[in-house]
Amino acid sequence: MSETAVTPAKRDIRKLSLEQLKAFFVEHGEKPFRAQQVYEWLWRKAAKDFDQMTNVSLDTREMLKSFFTINHIRVDKMQRSTDGTIKNAVTLHDGLVVESVLIPTEKRITACVSSQVGCSLACKFCATARLKRMRNLSPDEIYDQVVAIQEQSELFFGRPLTNIVFMGMGEPLLNYANVITAIDKITSPKGLNMASKRLTVSTVGVAKMIVKMADDGVKFNLAVSLHSAINETRSSIMPINDTNPLEELGEALKYWYQKRKRKVTYEYVVWEGINDTAEHAQALLKFCRIVPCKVNLIEYNPIDDGPFKQASEKALAMYQDLLESNGITTRIRKSRGKDIDAACGQLANKT
Ligand code: SAH
Repeated sequence: MSETAVTPAKRDIRKLSLEQLKAFFVEHGEKPFRAQQVYEWLWRKAAKDFDQMTNVSLDTREMLKSFFTINHIRVDKMQRSTDGTIKNAVTLHDGLVVESVLIPTEKRITACVSSQVGCSLACKFCATARLKRMRNLSPDEIYDQVVAIQEQSELFFGRPLTNIVFMGMGEPLLNYANVITAIDKITSPKGLNMASKRLTVSTVGVAKMIVKMADDGVKFNLAVSLHSAINETRSSIMPINDTNPLEELGEALKYWYQKRKRKVTYEYVVWEGINDTAEHAQALLKFCRIVPCKVNLIEYNPIDDGPFKQASEKALAMYQDLLESNGITTRIRKSRGKDIDAACGQLANKT
């Protein structure tokens, strides 16, 4: 019987740390500084292919190709909104798809990136919740989304990316280790060298992970998708609140603030018949007293003809007046990229 040669699967080279890459080079008779050069191509220069590594000899490149792949994401489809917003459909090496968004304003260019394929949280008003969670994104898949948007920012707007928000698909704190590794690369001089203060992680408010982040001494900003400061209401629209109630969230935020000393942002949608009364606004004001914070009242982006309907301007003004008159900065945020389903809560791989 003839033997069948089994070719071992190639490894994704970006799973290796710089130290591991150095060890690999030494093992294969190369100088460790070569590893440094390759590492720079992989991260700072975001090479998609070994042949881009022009200062690495052809032989070394061939050797690397025989052991490794670079599992770079592919932006297969790009849509542009009439307001300038760009939505990318990003294909991963295993064929799954996530979305990321570039949001231009006069002063900023913001990248909104995904952290998971789908989401496990089942918030009733969110389109991503309809896709079940398939898997976590790896650090390089998160990093690549930022690189792609950075390139588009230069290409279409002639200016660099200024901010990154983890407000795409998925719950970043349920993929904590990979999100942190990606952020380390994004902020490192060996990576994209972006300032941590320009990064915001948005969470449904997983209390124990907020405590962990505080203990880890992270330097980015925190946004919490609050939507209601009354347990009963919050639980009815965000099932996570059943096991992670507002009291626990409040305690975690106190701990976070003691360590981080920067205002927390609350994301809040006001819906007709759900949270548009003075009682709800008063509850939010009370919650806002737990730690220094600001509030973004975000416009609802309809995802179907279900029970959720944007509240009236009068209700929004009632919220804003109450909060502002009590010293809490409150902004009403209009949606961006609605025409291409790129706005908050609309990311659902529809195209
Ligand atoms: N899981 C994280 C990251 C997703 S961010 C989080 O919950 O924060 C997406 C933001 O859009 C969240 O603030 C979310 O509550 C909000 N959102 C979801 N669906 C929405 C919709 N249909 N209209 C407006 N905002 C929505």
